Amino acid sequence: MSAASRILAVIVSQIVLGFVASADDVPALVPYPSKVRMLGGKSQTQSVKVLKDASLGSEAYRLSVRDDGVEIWCSSSAGEFYARKTIAQLRSDNGTLPCLDIEDAPHFSWRGVLLDESRHFFGKDVVKRILDRMSDYKLNLFHWHLVDSQGWRIQIDRYPELTKRGAVRPMPDWEHWIRDDGFGEYGPFFYTKDDIREIVAYAAARHIRIVPEIEIPGHSRAVIMCYPQFSCVSMDVFMDMIRTSGKYDQAGAVCLGNDDVIRFFENVLDEVCELFPYDTVHIGGDECPRDNWKNCPKCKARMKAKEIADASGLQSWATAHFVKYLADKGRRTVGWDEILQGGLAPGAIVMSWRGHEGGIAAAQSGHEVVMCPHLYCYLDYPTGEKDDRCAYPQFCFLEKRRLPLEKVYSFNPYEGMPKEHHRYIVGSQSLNWTESTWSEKDLAYKMWPRTCANAEVLWSGPGARTFNDFQSRLKRCNSARWD
Ligand SMILES: [Zn+2]
Repeated sequence: MSAASRILAVIVSQIVLGFVASADDVPALVPYPSKVRMLGGKSQTQSVKVLKDASLGSEAYRLSVRDDGVEIWCSSSAGEFYARKTIAQLRSDNGTLPCLDIEDAPHFSWRGVLLDESRHFFGKDVVKRILDRMSDYKLNLFHWHLVDSQGWRIQIDRYPELTKRGAVRPMPDWEHWIRDDGFGEYGPFFYTKDDIREIVAYAAARHIRIVPEIEIPGHSRAVIMCYPQFSCVSMDVFMDMIRTSGKYDQAGAVCLGNDDVIRFFENVLDEVCELFPYDTVHIGGDECPRDNWKNCPKCKARMKAKEIADASGLQSWATAHFVKYLADKGRRTVGWDEILQGGLAPGAIVMSWRGHEGGIAAAQSGHEVVMCPHLYCYLDYPTGEKDDRCAYPQFCFLEKRRLPLEKVYSFNPYEGMPKEHHRYIVGSQSLNWTESTWSEKDLAYKMWPRTCANAEVLWSGPGARTFNDFQSRLKRCNSARWD
């Protein structure tokens, strides 16, 4: 073999070892780092030295493992945190580490998990366990769905009714409850302000920020049960909508012609912003029925006064109002993709859930996008596995809503989007709606390992690795324990 051939052979073997080595040589890391160079051999070292490198991004790190010690380079505590998470996944049962070099940085900045605690409430300990697991997979955002028609779960001092009446529903079973007030009790379940502060601190220690969601103006039945004057219709009509006319969704919209409703949500957002020290607040905006507004004297008067053409324009007016209200408090607004209808105030972030289309349109008009289309990201959809014994809502059983691990992994947030708009996609998240999820066991089954697949798409980038490679690493990954 010539010298040139030998050099070539060495280069090829390095590439093979570093990037496409046989399954057992690829370290069982999830998500997989940007660059890995295996050096051969094991290290017994416990010594870890942290060095500053200001040229690295805030979540990026470099890692080197040698016989005589481990070195981490990073520009911030987040980079060091993620390097230590990587070390934890690398460490074998007997305590050794493979000698290697890693360079790593996330592809997306928004790597989230949504938990719906309105439909079913899980409590602080479960939330902490979710935050622990999120941090193992370098997820950095917890979208906390605390408010919906089925229960208000956050203490608001100015409106104590919300956590008395609003945090109780007469039936634990969501599918029966939605059509009837029925009997029995579920609650009161909610987080006190001290609970929230505890969770915020717990998440911050794991480099996870929290985006709280306060639904406006739909999904507000719990609010109206506490404050009937916030509905466009009388309580008799409201109850008729719920019980007999099949218009239970329509009952969930507040009256946008009523100034007291606007003040109510402003006051709620004031207290929410005090609790959550982050730059982003979610105001919902999805699935809001608008029929009540068309016949309501107050809503009609608002539309006339503001020269608003139709009911969708009325929702746009309200969204723009709260986008500005939050901007004046130094916060950015996130909303579901329905907030695009009728025009959207600059600066708002769009969460594209009905498909990619909303996100594509939002990016075209210069809005940042969290791309989380339900067919890839809704973990209340069945896993398709033979041993799946969890309950699911009826609407989840359409064939196209089967969401096996491989489909979650195949998700491409950029699908259908011209390259010049990719920069508007800040990331994605898995969404854990809990209409039919009652227990932590079922929640964990639906959430993991599908959330790991989403986490790798977000950290490593779409299409960076193959599903087989992911599955092989996941099987061996020592963080992959969720029972
Ligand atoms: Zn009204």
